[in-house]
Amino acid sequence: MKIAANDPQLKSWIPVEAGSDFPIQNLPFGIFQYDGRSPRVGVAIGAFVVDVYALHVAGFLDGFDLTESMLQNAYLNDLMRVGKIKMRALRERISELLRDSNTDLQEYQEVHGDILYPMTDVRMCMPVLPGDYTDFYSSIVHATNVGSMFRPDNPLMPNWKHLPVGYHGRSSSMLVSGVPFHRPMGQTIVKDGDNPTFGPTKQLDFELEMAFITFDGKPLGQRISTAEADDYIFGMVIFNDWSARDIQRWEYVPLGPFLSKNFASSVSPWVVTLDALEPFRMAGDKQEPEVLPYLQFTGEKHLDINLIVSITIPDAEPFIVCESNYKNMYWTMEQQLAHQTVNGCNVRAGDMYASGTISAPHPNGYGSLLELTWRGTKPISLPNGQTRSFIEDGDIVTIQAWSEKNGVRIGFGEVKAQVLPAVPF
Ligand code: MN
Repeated sequence: MKIAANDPQLKSWIPVEAGSDFPIQNLPFGIFQYDGRSPRVGVAIGAFVVDVYALHVAGFLDGFDLTESMLQNAYLNDLMRVGKIKMRALRERISELLRDSNTDLQEYQEVHGDILYPMTDVRMCMPVLPGDYTDFYSSIVHATNVGSMFRPDNPLMPNWKHLPVGYHGRSSSMLVSGVPFHRPMGQTIVKDGDNPTFGPTKQLDFELEMAFITFDGKPLGQRISTAEADDYIFGMVIFNDWSARDIQRWEYVPLGPFLSKNFASSVSPWVVTLDALEPFRMAGDKQEPEVLPYLQFTGEKHLDINLIVSITIPDAEPFIVCESNYKNMYWTMEQQLAHQTVNGCNVRAGDMYASGTISAPHPNGYGSLLELTWRGTKPISLPNGQTRSFIEDGDIVTIQAWSEKNGVRIGFGEVKAQVLPAVPF
């Protein structure tokens, strides 16, 4: 399928610096606030935010069946209910208005000046209100690494290559990039057989993930096939699934992660549409053994997305601890969504589906400190002489993600958060 808004030749009348995450070929959607006004839908271009609500009020989106309440809204959910085809058309229209060959909006902006805001002047909000959140476990390198720490002879469980393993997570504690959170407290055991103690986690970790966000799916009881899946996926964000490893180890049997994960997850503010990512599709590794028919798919469904994690400790520069790529995923988004719905489970606009930790098959490609420091046995040395086995109070973890091809860079911006000391009990 040809998507006109993705044409590498397009140029905007808005200046876009080389290396920007947000050229005219990207146009991700988000929710922004300017100068205390109520939150609105925005689209990023270069170092600016286009006020989509203002575009609508000024008549530039006539014929798109949009309402003021969809666009002056704390979340994208209401807008997303128009579905894939209309969101694609909206992105196409905004692309037209921003092209250097089109002066309509440019002239309006010069006269009225209330369409564009410098990114530095706005506050970005959570892009969606996720009703539900699933976290998958779909990187074979990550699953093998973690499995081998606990079961050296048998790292992958028998089900792993037959279905995309996942669990239902917590959506209420998702935070947009930039919002700090407190180190969680909980039960841990020092060594097997001991009684548990209570206190701040000593093994706070990040998980490098990407998440996809769905449109409304089908009614309860109906399935979404791998072939249909892309019609129900709006776009992707960067996702940090903060994890407390010591709490996790004690609590996870037999029902999986609970309080070790649900205290915070950080999300990047710009939703990059699946349409904008189409040029970066690629084939993944062949799945062996062959999966059941409902998980089979045709075409190239993996995505080439570069990923970098850095840690910034107080009074120091960011230090890159991981370089990975989303192409390393074993299970695709389409398979994840087909599996999520194969029992008739329904999905809704704004739901979030995180990939699981994305580890690449080289030692600085591991997407968590659990793997990078091998359970804390090989601490990372930082340039100022400090070491890190796990995240300490005051540390900031930043994840960046971008795709690049034919001179076009489609970036996600970043997700970052600082860890604050535990709240005293
Ligand atoms: Mn995770």
